[in-house]
Amino acid sequence: MISRSLLTGISRTLPYLLASSSSRLSILIYHRVLETHDPLRPFEPTVDEFSVQMETLARYFTPLSLDKSLLLMAQGELPERAVCVTFDDGYSDNLNAALPILQHWKIPATVFVSSGYIDRNSMWNDRVIESVRQWVEKGNTQLDLSLLGLGAHNCTNTDDCLVTIERLLEKIKYCSSGERSALVEGIERKVNVSVGSLMMSRKELQALYLSGVTIGAHTHTHPILSGLSEEDSHFEIATSKRILESWLQAPVDYFAYPNGRFDKDYGLLQQDQVKALGFKAALSTNPGVASEASNIWQLPRFTPWDKQSWRYMLRLMLSRRCLA
Ligand SMILES: [Zn+2]
Repeated sequence: MISRSLLTGISRTLPYLLASSSSRLSILIYHRVLETHDPLRPFEPTVDEFSVQMETLARYFTPLSLDKSLLLMAQGELPERAVCVTFDDGYSDNLNAALPILQHWKIPATVFVSSGYIDRNSMWNDRVIESVRQWVEKGNTQLDLSLLGLGAHNCTNTDDCLVTIERLLEKIKYCSSGERSALVEGIERKVNVSVGSLMMSRKELQALYLSGVTIGAHTHTHPILSGLSEEDSHFEIATSKRILESWLQAPVDYFAYPNGRFDKDYGLLQQDQVKALGFKAALSTNPGVASEASNIWQLPRFTPWDKQSWRYMLRLMLSRRCLA
């Protein structure tokens, strides 16, 4: 229930929020759209929630493709309440769950794909999450990974599992790729699980592209680029562009940095590499709203997390006012 005072507040602030927000572009970032709520992935929207969010964008905002919005932004001609929808990584639910909703509301989208996971395995973070899930489903309440140097963890309830997952992901995320593979394989051996692929096949990726979705590059194996040598970083960025272009037989013009925080996950070296490789622009996960003054090699992104339409709309409008 919304209280009367809150409704009054909303009705007073709405004209202010809706007015004069042109010349700014909200670029939204999603990863997955789930068939049903998953307690171990609490921030991923379900099909129903995503549908409400896209309806809100279609009714109250101006959804544009990345190409068109960046062109209009450069010309200083962005329409009122311009938004772009993007997805990172290349999950098959982008095609199976998100695309029909995007098509229904005529919302263009861009999907940034890590080429090394297409037609193959799941990403390392998903393998950790699924390992914890399957370990608990077997009736376990403790996960002792001390032999791997990852400590012992509680898994007695959903909250414990979420804390365990977060701690494991944080510990493994900034390891070298060799160490990371060894740790994830060690966890899978310990819990004796097998994780099916959550990512698109090459055929699914081609179908997504042919449906009109823009495909961008997101490295080959999704490393933290700032931890790599100059040569390895170049290889990761260049390989994803080259492979995706050969599969799609089309240029891949946009890049999204994995994890995406400037100075932590990528730096000026990667920005220069992306520029030199012939991309048109690159996207970060630095929170913010883009404008004509933005650095197009580090465009900010932001997504309201609210499940209710009015909250989603308000947070998106506020972000356009409050984020640089
Ligand atoms: Zn990613």
